Amino acid sequence: MSEEKYTLETVLSVKRWAANLFSFTMTRPSAFRFTAGQFARIGIQVEGELIVRAYSIVSSPFDETLEFFSIVVPEGAFTSQLQYLKPGDQIYLEKIPYGFLTLARYQEPAPHDLWLLATGTGLAPFISMLQDFETWQKYRHIVLAYSVRTQQELAYVDRINEIQNIFGENGAEFCFLPIITRDPFAKLNHRLPKLIESGDLEQEADLKFNVESSHVMLCGNPQMVEDTKEALKCRGLIMNRRGVGNIAVENYW
Ligand code: NAP
Repeated sequence: MSEEKYTLETVLSVKRWAANLFSFTMTRPSAFRFTAGQFARIGIQVEGELIVRAYSIVSSPFDETLEFFSIVVPEGAFTSQLQYLKPGDQIYLEKIPYGFLTLARYQEPAPHDLWLLATGTGLAPFISMLQDFETWQKYRHIVLAYSVRTQQELAYVDRINEIQNIFGENGAEFCFLPIITRDPFAKLNHRLPKLIESGDLEQEADLKFNVESSHVMLCGNPQMVEDTKEALKCRGLIMNRRGVGNIAVENYW
């Protein structure tokens, strides 16, 4: 392992949301700078071997610590070990951040309406973006739709409400739409592409997708990203390339 590539950081806290979901915070070296929406590569030693994975950063670029949100992949070499993390443990952090799921990538259309559509741990980059005053100043409307299978998997709800209270006061109008796909009694319980096709997502958000004014970011399950992209294209939106276009995506595994 190259000592120059990584710094060794310390786990500060661990929060368990459900049997298969947890978050953790760790020390952040002052030289580690990133833009909200980017991911870090973090590593742990498993049987003498360094295993490294990409993790979107939940914390904001202004926080002193780094926070990550993880699922436990059954029999996954990395997360099956990572789930036992405790404060004081050490983690390798690659010195540079990665990724282009950032608001800075949008040049056209100009910022107006921001749609953040996530499944599962794909919520992470959006929590980071929402903890930046600039996001709230730039946009007139922000919609966060977050799809999980069960109520227990709906993590970060208190934080989302807190963020709205802190940042929303003088900024964008904010709409949080939780989607619980395996709960027949949930207000929204269909998958994102279906909610887009039916018009239910727009109705709940009280906002329309519009090629002239929508920035739509997708993060999470790769099949969700694919299917949602197609549903949005059917609504006339286009992929963001070289700064121009509505849709930006990040696959999660
Ligand atoms: P998930 O299966 O991705 O489900 C989360 C939400 O996404 C649910 O509401 C689900 O709806 C929805 N969804 C699934 N497929 C979709 C599609 N094609 N279009 C629209 N929505 C869709 O659940 P998860 O708990 O986040 O992850 C499940 C598995 O993915 C894990 O067990 C793990 O093996 C793997 N995973 C791996 C990594 C990794 O880094 N290797 C990271 C995350 C997840 P439904 O209830 O209708 O399915």
